[in-house]
Amino acid sequence: MTFNDFNFDKRLAEAISLKGYKEPSPIQEQAIPPALLGKDILGCAQTGTGKTCAFAVPILHRLASAPPKYGKKPKMIRALILTPTRELAMQIDESFEAYGKLMPLRAGLIMGGVGQEGQVRMLKAGVDILTATPGRFIDLVWQGHIDPSFVEILVLDEADRMLDMGFLPDVSRIVSLLPKERQTLFFSATMPPEIQKLSKTILNDPVHVAVTPVSSTVDTIEQWILFTDKDKKPDLIVYLLKNLPVTSALIFTRTKHGADRLTKKLGTSGIRASAIHGDKSQTARQNALSSFKRGATAVLVATDIAARGLDIDDISHVFNYELPNEPETYVHRIGRTGRAGRTGVAVSLCDYDEKPYLAGIEKLINKKIDIESEHPYPMTVFVKSPPKEQRGRRKR
Ligand code: AMP
Repeated sequence: MTFNDFNFDKRLAEAISLKGYKEPSPIQEQAIPPALLGKDILGCAQTGTGKTCAFAVPILHRLASAPPKYGKKPKMIRALILTPTRELAMQIDESFEAYGKLMPLRAGLIMGGVGQEGQVRMLKAGVDILTATPGRFIDLVWQGHIDPSFVEILVLDEADRMLDMGFLPDVSRIVSLLPKERQTLFFSATMPPEIQKLSKTILNDPVHVAVTPVSSTVDTIEQWILFTDKDKKPDLIVYLLKNLPVTSALIFTRTKHGADRLTKKLGTSGIRASAIHGDKSQTARQNALSSFKRGATAVLVATDIAARGLDIDDISHVFNYELPNEPETYVHRIGRTGRAGRTGVAVSLCDYDEKPYLAGIEKLINKKIDIESEHPYPMTVFVKSPPKEQRGRRKR
């Protein structure tokens, strides 16, 4: 199958070919035909599968092929894409800009964490396709800068992450403001019960599409586990970064604080690294990301939420500095390497307290991860750490 088989608007077909895409990815092959027909979609797909193009391209085609359903109105937007993080929002908006660059449709972006003045100016000038994080969208609706009653197509992107981040009430409020008669495209990497419930309330007879179930880890990823102690992890990670053939690495930490501490430690050990997490300003996150993409820094330290949706290819190594307590998160994390058929390596550091997490991960992926014991910082502590509230208390 090629993109020509979809019979896209010529300008759209040309923009796709300028991007260098030859064939649609599996999610695109499944989702584009029904989306072009105006059907609702329930898509189970992670970032990296090409899902942005799977919804962006049919939206552009449909909006360009028909005049606005409700006629031209001030402050109206015809397609709304709700996404949980600022990074994802920027990437989605960039995709609309790229695929729609030869079309007269205007794409725009609004998100929290940056001043709203520029966004209000853009809305005043008129936007057909708006990508938004939920909180800022609601703010601007309340302030009267957006009229949501003319939306023809709604996309909910990364619905499960919206749930994790506590955005579901905002999403429901937004959906209640939109016309009932609309097309809705709903994407989520996992389908926990709350998400299934939400999808039932907002989708109308959807076509189900799915790629790579989350429990199957990509075969091209080499996975290793290294047992060590909590306090030895900083030295072990430095050792690994200096001794493995790392060209670009993403290191996951559980907390923002941990990400900052580790980045500092790497810096003092002569490894250029930057941290990316929710407490960093938008500019700092952008700078960290672009210097990583350029190759100026080879190591990016991230928390799960910040890393979600980062569009970075070519990661040679993913390190789990701490194991995630949710096994699905492990699969998401390591899926950042070994993309597009390339080989990738995922290395996880595991201390005694994290052993139950490892068991959960191995159960989910249905295989044992190989143990690498040849390293200078092996595990020596075989008892659980005391609960947090007892730590740091003086002995009487
Ligand atoms: P996404 O899952 O939407 O974040 O897309 C992941 C990456 O795949 C992005 O860098 C896209 O530009 C790229 N991509 C999407 N569709 C295709 C395609 N059909 N062929 C090649 N690359 C693609």
